[in-house]
Amino acid sequence: MQSLFVVSEALRGRKVVYSASMTTALASFIQGKWQAGNGKGRPLENPATEEVLASASTSGFEFSAVLDYAREVGGQSLQKMNLKQRGELLSKLAAVMADNREELLKLAQLNGGNTRGDAKFDVDGASGTLAAYSKYVESEELTIRDGEAVLVGRTSRLIGQHVWLPRKGAAILINAFNFPAWGFAEKAACALLAGMPVVCKPATATALVAHRMFELFVEAGIPEGSLSLICGSVGDLLNHVTSQDVVSFTGSSDTAKTIRTTDSVINAGTTVNVEADSLNAAVLGPDVDLFSETGQLFLKDVVKDMTQKTGQKCTAIRRVLVPASAVEGVCEELASRLSEVKIGDPTAKGISMGPVATKKQKLDVLAGIARLSADTEAVWGGDGSEVTPEGTNGKGYFVSPVLRLAKDPSNLGIVNEHEVFGPVATLIVYDGTASQAAKIVAAPGGGLVSSVYSDDKPYLREAVLGMAPYHGRIYIGSEKMAAQSPGPGTALPSLLHGGPGRAGGGEELGGIRGIRLYQQRVALQGDKSLLKSIID
Ligand code: NAP
Repeated sequence: MQSLFVVSEALRGRKVVYSASMTTALASFIQGKWQAGNGKGRPLENPATEEVLASASTSGFEFSAVLDYAREVGGQSLQKMNLKQRGELLSKLAAVMADNREELLKLAQLNGGNTRGDAKFDVDGASGTLAAYSKYVESEELTIRDGEAVLVGRTSRLIGQHVWLPRKGAAILINAFNFPAWGFAEKAACALLAGMPVVCKPATATALVAHRMFELFVEAGIPEGSLSLICGSVGDLLNHVTSQDVVSFTGSSDTAKTIRTTDSVINAGTTVNVEADSLNAAVLGPDVDLFSETGQLFLKDVVKDMTQKTGQKCTAIRRVLVPASAVEGVCEELASRLSEVKIGDPTAKGISMGPVATKKQKLDVLAGIARLSADTEAVWGGDGSEVTPEGTNGKGYFVSPVLRLAKDPSNLGIVNEHEVFGPVATLIVYDGTASQAAKIVAAPGGGLVSSVYSDDKPYLREAVLGMAPYHGRIYIGSEKMAAQSPGPGTALPSLLHGGPGRAGGGEELGGIRGIRLYQQRVALQGDKSLLKSIID
C-alpha cells in the first residue's frame, strides 16, 4: 500500500515519490483482513501519462470462503443492528469520504483520467449518495411492512401481512471502470440499509479510489464482515453464489450476459440486477429557439455530456435529435462550444477534458467512431484521433470530442445500435413531430435516460409518453427549470437509475425502491396478535 500513502503524504505537503518503480500490489479486504493475490496481477495506469501506478491480483483467493465470511459474519453484524444504526453507518462512511475528499479526488485524477470536476462528480456523488440514504431511515415508508394487513379469514383474527426482510446472503457489487466511488456507494448504501453485507468488486483498471476508500473505512471502523473489497479479476467468485445472494452488476452487455448465463447463477436462481449500456437521446422540440433559456440548456447539456468524464458516463447523451429547420444552427453552436474544450493532463490547470480511462478504451472508442462514420457525416472532431493534448509528452489515451450527423432518420443503422463509450455523439435530423422523435428514441430497445427540450405542452405530452416505457428516467428540459437543472447525466439518489431492454432491465436508487433489491418480500398469514408479536 506504499504508493497510496505517497499520495496521501503529497497532499499533506510532505515528501512525494510516485513512480513506476514503486508499483504497489493492491491488496483486497477479504475475510476481515487485507490480503494480496499471487503473481504479477493486472496493471492500473495513469491514463494521461501511461505510468503504471499499481497492480491487482486475486490469484489464489478462495472465493467460496470470502462469500461465506461475508454472509455469516457480516450478515450477523448488520442484522443485529437496527435501521437507525445502519443509517449511522452510512453517515459515517459519507463523513470519512468527506474528511479525505482531497486525497480521493487526487487519486481519481491520477487513475481515472478525471479532471477535478469529473473527480468531484464521482467522489462527491458517492459521499452525497451515502449521506442521502442515511436519511431514509427517518422515512415512514421504510418499514418492514409492505402495505396494510388484509383480512383473509371469516373474522378479523386471520390476517395476511406482506413484509420486507433482508436476504441472508451477500450483496456482490460489480462495478464499471468509470465510477469507482459512486458505483460502490449507490449500490452499497441500499444493501447496507437493507441489512446485507457487501462484497464490492470495482473494475480493476481504475480501482485505486475504491481501494483507498476501503482503507479509510476500515481504519475508521466498520461492523465485522459488513464490507469486503476485491481488487483484481473476479476469478470464480460467481461459481459460489446462492439463492440468497444478490449480484448487482454495472458494465457492458457482454459481461452481463456472461453473468446471467453462469451455471451457478442459473441453478441457484440468484437475483441479478444489471445496469448495462444505453444510447441515451436528447430531443430538441420544434418550438425551441436556440437562444432561449431552453435552447441554451439543450446546448449546455449536450456539450457537458459529451465531455464530462470524457463521455464515459452511462447516462451521457449519445443521440441528439434535431428538427431539420434547426440543424444548421445546432451544428454551428455545438462545434463552437466543442472547439473551446481544452484537452490534456487533467491534473494541469485549465484542462476541461482528460483522456479515456485505458488504452483498450481508446481503441474501442476510435473503432466505434469508425463504425459510426459509415452511416454519418463529420461535424466536429473527424475520426477522433486528431488531438494535441496539453502537458503530456505525446503519451496518454486521448481522443478528441466527435460530433457526427445522420441526415436520414429512416437509415440510422449503427447510430441506433452501437454505444461509443467516449466523447462522441451523433446529431439525427427528424421531422419535428413528437411521434417520429419517440419512435427514433425507442429504436435501440431500452435506455437509461433520455431528454426532451421544449415548452410546448401537447408536443411534450406525446413525446414523453411515447418514449417513457423504454426508459428508467425521462428528463424534461424547459425554460422554468433551466436555472436549477443538473442535466440528464446526473443520477440522483431519489430517482430511479436503470432501464429496460438493452440497458439491462435493472433498477437502482429511486429512494426506498433501491433498497428492495436486497430484501425479500414475504406474505405472512396467521393470527393477528401472533403476527403482530413477530413483526413489531
Ligand atoms: P465491463 O468490461 O463489463 O466490466 C465491468 C465489471 O465487470 C468490471 O468490474 C469487470 O472486472 C467485471 N467483470 C469482467 N468480467 C467479468 C465476469 N466474467 N464476471 C463478472 N464480472 C466480470 O465494463 P466496463 O468496460 O468496466 O464498463 C463500460 C460499460 O459499462 C459500458 O458499456 C457502459 O455503458 C456500462 N456502464 C453502465 C452503467 C449503468 O449504470 N447502466 C454505468 C457505467 C457503465 P475487471 O475490471 O476486473 O475486468
